[in-house]
Amino acid sequence: MIDISNVNKWYGNFQVLTDCTTSVKKGEVVVVCGPSGSGKSTLIKCVNMLEPFQKGTITVDGISVGDKGTDLPKLRSRVGMVFQHFELFPHLTITDNLTLAQIKVLGRSKDEAMAKGLGLLDRVGLKAHAHKFPGQLSGGQQQRVAIARALSMDPICMLFDEPTSALDPEMINEVLDVMVELAQEGMTMMCVTHEMGFARKVADRVIFMDKGHIVEDCTKDDFFGTPRSERAQQFLSKIL
Ligand code: ADP
Ligand code: MG
Repeated sequence: MIDISNVNKWYGNFQVLTDCTTSVKKGEVVVVCGPSGSGKSTLIKCVNMLEPFQKGTITVDGISVGDKGTDLPKLRSRVGMVFQHFELFPHLTITDNLTLAQIKVLGRSKDEAMAKGLGLLDRVGLKAHAHKFPGQLSGGQQQRVAIARALSMDPICMLFDEPTSALDPEMINEVLDVMVELAQEGMTMMCVTHEMGFARKVADRVIFMDKGHIVEDCTKDDFFGTPRSERAQQFLSKIL
């Protein structure tokens, strides 16, 4: 579903990604972890070209994201992305947040978009909040709306960038529960997260990044059992 091959990226003279190669198969859940500044967000943003890269190729469902001819808005509409800071439209109600892109990008009717949006809102346990504005919800609730909004576009895969790291501890699980459910339903997911409980529960593979390199890319059992690099061992000893 996602194929990342020899990706190199520079910010000016600073090389942020070096020879990154990995892939995510249909239905697979891959967790990306590693120290702050190691390039996790940059790599995941390259997948839908929110960040351009100078060398290498990335394909999503067979479409090369870096090709000049690729319809990026169309591709992005099929790749769900959930960020650390929710990024809901603050001036729109939850309902409007859930239906806007369905109507504008996918051309769904208002009724169709509303039915889909409310169904997903119910699924993340927030149906009673449909008429509110994002600012009236807790962080955990806003992030669940953000996930529902991404799902409303019927994505072929989902990208998460530290979706729980801005949340108070008591709200982390309500978001992780939604993510676990998605994973168990077979959604293809690439998740930057340090929630190792989540990784242990649903990850098929774990990628560990350091200084722009993918230094570990293995099954979760290998990762938690015998990570090969010293850097990954140090990292695990700090967060577990
Ligand atoms: P992570 O998500 O693993 O914390 P990032 O991908 O955000 O890492 O950043 C990797 C490195 O690239 C960091 O050193 C960061 O300072 C640098 N960086 C990120 N965005 C930019 C940018 N727009 N311009 C210059 N450097 C950047
Ligand atoms: Mg990051």
